[in-house]
Amino acid sequence: MSVTATPHPMNMPLASDALSGKSIVVTGAGQGIGRAISELCASLGANVAMVDMNAETLAEAQKGIGDQAKAYVGDVSDAAFVENTVSDAISQFGGVHGLVNNAGITRPAMLQKMTLEQWQAVLNVHLTGAFLFTQAVGHDMIARAKAGEANPGSIVCISSDAGVQGTIGQINYATCKAGIMGFAMSTAREWGKYGIRANTVAFGMVETPMTEKIRTDEKLSEIYMARIILQRASSPQEAAVPICFLLSDGASYITGQRISVNGGSQMAC
Ligand code: NAD
Repeated sequence: MSVTATPHPMNMPLASDALSGKSIVVTGAGQGIGRAISELCASLGANVAMVDMNAETLAEAQKGIGDQAKAYVGDVSDAAFVENTVSDAISQFGGVHGLVNNAGITRPAMLQKMTLEQWQAVLNVHLTGAFLFTQAVGHDMIARAKAGEANPGSIVCISSDAGVQGTIGQINYATCKAGIMGFAMSTAREWGKYGIRANTVAFGMVETPMTEKIRTDEKLSEIYMARIILQRASSPQEAAVPICFLLSDGASYITGQRISVNGGSQMAC
């Protein structure tokens, strides 16, 4: 048995101009969920600043979108790169109205064997990267809020079932995925007075390069499959839909929330 995203008929619930007039920064945009988010943002009318450290995949992904997207190659945990990227995106597109803190890596090891390097590498990408990008886009969003703009910005952070219930063999990753929820909720509290919203989307199993090993290993995929009520993984395209909803003005009263998009693999009331 393997966990696959069996082709699923998907009716697009968002209007084709849902993100028209907006520009969105997407990190980790070269492949997987980030690439699908970028593609959907563009098809809903947005300009997209696509960020990734993998120049090759990023160039290919940007080419697929065309003029509505610009590629920025660099590391999300590099403060100077983040600052330059956001200021270039603002001058290119006239502002930044959305940010998806999506870039991620895994460095698995059991707690007793995890090195400080493995621990810090994961925290740098998921948490420091999100901190730097959110702070950088915040300057522009707050300035536009003060100028009277009603929906100046939406920030979406990507979490995981691992951040809600813990995991085995990836304490660094689960720590980040729990931490990012605190980060998003605090951003929502600090910037709610400006009308800036911040939310988290927690995925279960999405069919991307990150999960290839789990999905193709017979024993592991059986364990994961047993947890998923819908009995399949999500495609990256399916995963991108709730994120674009949160970026849109249709979600104007949703902030500080976690939305779980996991086929029922984890439930909470
Ligand atoms: P992926 O590995 O397919 O893609 C991640 C992208 O991030 C890659 O293009 C990579 O080059 C980029 N990246 C990594 N480090 C970077 C850095 N320092 N600077 C810039 N770019 C960097 O992963 P994915 O499955 O698409 O995951 C996207 C997000 O969703 C991650 O935050 C991941 O933790 C989260 N998530 C994924 C799943 C899943 O099942 N795939 C489940 C829960 C959460």
